[in-house]
Amino acid sequence: MSNSTSQSRRRFLMNAGASALAIPTLTDAFGKPIQSNQGQPGRKLGIALVGLGYYSKNLLAPALQQTTNCRLAGIVTGTPAKAEEWMKKYDIPKANVYDYKNFDRIIDNKDIDVVYVVLPNSMHREFVVRAAQAGKHVICEKPMAITPSDCQAMIDACRKADRQLAIGYRLHYEPFTKEVMRLGQQKVFGPVRFVEASDAFKIGDPTQWRLKKELAGGGALMDVGIYAIQGARYVTGEEPTSVTAQFSPKTDPKKFKDVEETLFWQFQFPSGAVSNSTTSYTAGVERLYASCQDGWFELSPAFGYGPLKGRTSKGPIEMPVVNHQAAHMDGVCKDLLDGKKLPDHVTGEEGLRDVTLLQAIYRAAETGRKINLKG
Ligand code: NAD
Repeated sequence: MSNSTSQSRRRFLMNAGASALAIPTLTDAFGKPIQSNQGQPGRKLGIALVGLGYYSKNLLAPALQQTTNCRLAGIVTGTPAKAEEWMKKYDIPKANVYDYKNFDRIIDNKDIDVVYVVLPNSMHREFVVRAAQAGKHVICEKPMAITPSDCQAMIDACRKADRQLAIGYRLHYEPFTKEVMRLGQQKVFGPVRFVEASDAFKIGDPTQWRLKKELAGGGALMDVGIYAIQGARYVTGEEPTSVTAQFSPKTDPKKFKDVEETLFWQFQFPSGAVSNSTTSYTAGVERLYASCQDGWFELSPAFGYGPLKGRTSKGPIEMPVVNHQAAHMDGVCKDLLDGKKLPDHVTGEEGLRDVTLLQAIYRAAETGRKINLKG
């Protein structure tokens, strides 16, 4: 195995091995563990959701009613009517309700430990930086931001504030996904030779921010194609070394005047594995398939809210069905409570890797050239 392959493999050793790895304890300037829950068993971290749109309302807030390591403690919204509704529904005190302007006052709120940014993609940077400057740990939705330099600024702000930054990579805590990571990375069916990873859906409302480049950063690739990028990376356990990509002609140029409608791309990996992916806002597909030297495995559906379903060349994959959002927030908050460094594969560094690849895919499609990556 080449050096870069073994490095990228190590980066991904996240499943069975991850819990056994000694994760360094974060310490403050005096060497004391940060935010340890020692002496406070059963303590739940207070989470404030920023942006009360579809994902917050229908997935995150309900999940926070099931979590053991965190609770819904606050909200940040630009809509006073939503604030009223949420305060009533979730018994949130007025002191824990902010708007986008007065949000920085959250620095004084001891009830809020973690800020979860659930806004349109181009707004992630500003709110992650402000949350870190207010001394809060941060969870930021995917894609982390719309450019690698935005991602770096977010990482730097959290580092400077000595706070941790997690990305909303809920599947990294999901049992079917963890199982295919194990099957691929541990070469249970021999080395992975090729991967088909695709995520697409038919988009509705033509006025939504997802179709505006300024807010979304791009089209289907930024929104769901990122799952296919993740899938190819986590079943191979490698970082791609080059990419080729193609836009398909637009079937609805008016609706997709600002962003791409359908995009195909191919990654080459250091081991010789290749992946082929589709993303689209025009019709649905949701599949992760890996063909290996001695067999195959797949998830379909692979990236949605579940239940996911999987099988291998030897039979079905049986795993517990969990609430993705609850598992993710509980997993992140457990490490925060224990004063541990978050595993690399769910942090801002992982978000930055994906956003760098998103940009490389666009460049490859725009130029028609193969783009070499660092790997
Ligand atoms: P949404 O449109 O339903 O909600 C967006 C929220 O941002 C709304 O409350 C809206 O009022 C607010 N907002 C503030 N300024 C805005 C502006 N200028 N334009 C539009 N809205 C503005 O979107 P969503 O589906 O909740 O997505 C939010 C984020 O969550 C996105 O980054 C998205 O990629 C991510 N997301 C992740 C998952 C996942 O499975 N991890 C699923 C859905 C969405």
